[in-house]
Amino acid sequence: MVGIGVVDGIAIQKVFIYDNAPCDEHQREYLGADKETARLFTAIETAKDQLTRTAEKLAREIGSDKAEIIEYQINILCDKVFTDKILRNVESGSACEDAVKTTCTEYYEIFNNLDNDYLQQRKIDIIDIQVRLLDILNGRKSISALGSSTIVAAEDLTPSQVAEMELKSVKGILLEKGGRSSHSVIIAQSFGIPCIIGLRGLLNKLDECGTVIMDGKTGDVIINPPAELLADYRGKLDRETKNKKKLEAYISKAPITPDGVQINVYANIASAAEARMSLENGGEGVGLFRTELLYMGFSETPSREAQFKTYSRIAKDLGSKPLIIRTLDVGGDKEIAYLGIEKEANPFLGYRAIRYCLDHESLFKDQIAAVLQAAKYGNIKLMFPMISTMDELMKAKRLVNETKAELLSQGTEFADIPIGMMMEAPAAALMADAFAQHVDFFSVGTNDLIQYLFAADRNNDKVSHLNSYYHPALFRCVNAICTAALKHEIEIDICGHAGEAPDLIPIWIAMGISGLSVSIPSIPLVKKIICETRAKDARELLDKVLQFNTSGEVKEYLNTINGRMQAYDTGAIGSTQ
Ligand code: PEP
Ligand code: MG
Repeated sequence: MVGIGVVDGIAIQKVFIYDNAPCDEHQREYLGADKETARLFTAIETAKDQLTRTAEKLAREIGSDKAEIIEYQINILCDKVFTDKILRNVESGSACEDAVKTTCTEYYEIFNNLDNDYLQQRKIDIIDIQVRLLDILNGRKSISALGSSTIVAAEDLTPSQVAEMELKSVKGILLEKGGRSSHSVIIAQSFGIPCIIGLRGLLNKLDECGTVIMDGKTGDVIINPPAELLADYRGKLDRETKNKKKLEAYISKAPITPDGVQINVYANIASAAEARMSLENGGEGVGLFRTELLYMGFSETPSREAQFKTYSRIAKDLGSKPLIIRTLDVGGDKEIAYLGIEKEANPFLGYRAIRYCLDHESLFKDQIAAVLQAAKYGNIKLMFPMISTMDELMKAKRLVNETKAELLSQGTEFADIPIGMMMEAPAAALMADAFAQHVDFFSVGTNDLIQYLFAADRNNDKVSHLNSYYHPALFRCVNAICTAALKHEIEIDICGHAGEAPDLIPIWIAMGISGLSVSIPSIPLVKKIICETRAKDARELLDKVLQFNTSGEVKEYLNTINGRMQAYDTGAIGSTQ
C-alpha cells in the first residue's frame, strides 16, 4: 500500500492494531453470578494497572508529582461503594458490561446535577472509567499496554491517545486517516517516529503476527514482505541509522552560514521530558512549548502552582537559553474534555486558542501568572496563538498587564518578559506591519497558515495535496511577515513544520528569519543545512521561487538545483495549483 509519508524513517516490526471505535452497545449474555463477578474484578484490576502505568508515565513526562488526571479515577475504582453497586447489578442478573454501564450512568447523573463546578466536571472521569472497563471486558487492548518495539496501526489517533502511548516502544505509526499537520503527527515528529497517513483500508489487510515494513519518506507499506525485500529494507534501515550517527557531529555546532549569518535552531516541545531531549540533540532553546499537553495531563484545568512547577522546571533545565511558552491553543483537533467546548462543524475555524482564552479570563490569567512567576528562573517569553485581529492582541496584552498588577499587589515575585504572537492567520499576516509595532517577536505557524491560506483542513488526507509547503503563495505570505518584522526590528522565527523542510531552509534564511523552531530529531540536520548555505546564494534562490506560480514549478526547480536534497513533502509534483 502507499499512503502519505509524513515523518521520515524506516521501520520493520510487527504491528499493534489499535481499534479505537466505540464498543458496540448490544447486551451480553449473562454467564452466571460467579463468572461475571470474576470478570468484573479482573477488569477492575486491569483498569487500575493501566491507569497506574499511565500515571507514572505522565509524572515522568509532564513532571507533575500527582499525575492528577488519573489519580481520581484510580480512587473511584478502589471505592467500595462504586464497586459494590456494580456487583449488586451483576448479582441481580446483569452481565458485567450492562452492570458497568448502569452504575456509571447513575454516577454520571449524580455528578451532572451537582452545583459545584469542580465536582460536576468529574462526570468526564466517569465516562472515561466506563469506556476503559468496557474496552477491557470486550478484550480490547489498551494503547498504554504496547509491547516492546512495535508499529501502531489505527484508523486515526487523537493527541491524548498518543500521549497515553509509551512512545519509546513505538517504532512507527500507520493511520487510515490523519492529516499531515495533525497534532498526533506532530507528536510523532517530536519523537522521530516514522509516520504514514491516508492508508485507507489498511486495518482490514493487517494481521498482528506478520511483519510490516514502512517507509515514512515514500509512504510505502509492505505487509508480510518476502525475504529479499526484507533484506533490502534492513540494508536501508542500517544506512539510515549510520546517516543519523554522522549528523551527530552537528549537535555541538553553531548554526552559522559560511558567510556569517547566524540562525538560531530551537525545538518544538510539549513536555519537560522533550525539553531535556532537545538539549541533548543540540537545541538552542525552545521556540514553541505547546502547553496543550500539560492541560491534557490533568482531569481539570491545572492549577497555577502545577503550571508554575512545569514552566520553572523547564526554564531551569534550559538555563539562559530561551523558552517560548505558547498560551493554551485548545480546539481544532486538540480536545480537552473537561473544558466542555461544544462540538463544532468546523473546529479549526471555530472556538479555539486565543478566542477561547479571551472568553475565559481567569483560566487565561492563571496561565499567564504561572509563566510570569516562572520567568524568574530562566529566559522565558510568552506567545499568543491564533491572533487574527488587533483587538485580540490588545485584549491579551491588557490581561497580561492586569495579571502583573495582581501579582504585584499580592507581593508575588515575577519577571517581566517579551511578548510575541504566532503568525498563522492570513488576516494577521496581511497586517504584520501593524502587529510588529506591538509585539517583541513573531513566530510563523505554517501548519495553520497553510491550511487557512488554501482553505484546506490540515487533518483531511483528501485535501493534503493543497497543504503543500512549496506553493509560492506561502512564500509570498511569509516573506511579507518577515519584511514587516525586519522593518520594525523584531525577532522572527518559524515554528511550523515547513520551517524544517530541508530544501526550503535556504528560502527562509533568505527572508531574514532569526530562528527555526523544529522537531527535536531534525535539529542536527537543520544545523547542517544552515552551516552549508551561503545567505547570498539563498537570496538568489528566493528571488527565483517568488516568480513561480505553482508548487510543482518550485519543487522541480529545487530538485534540479539541489540534487542532494529531495522534495520534503510527498504530494505529487505539479499536483497543486
Ligand atoms: C502551526 O500552526 O504551525 C503551529 C506551530 O502550531 P500548531 O501546529 O500547534 O497549531
Ligand atoms: Mg497553529
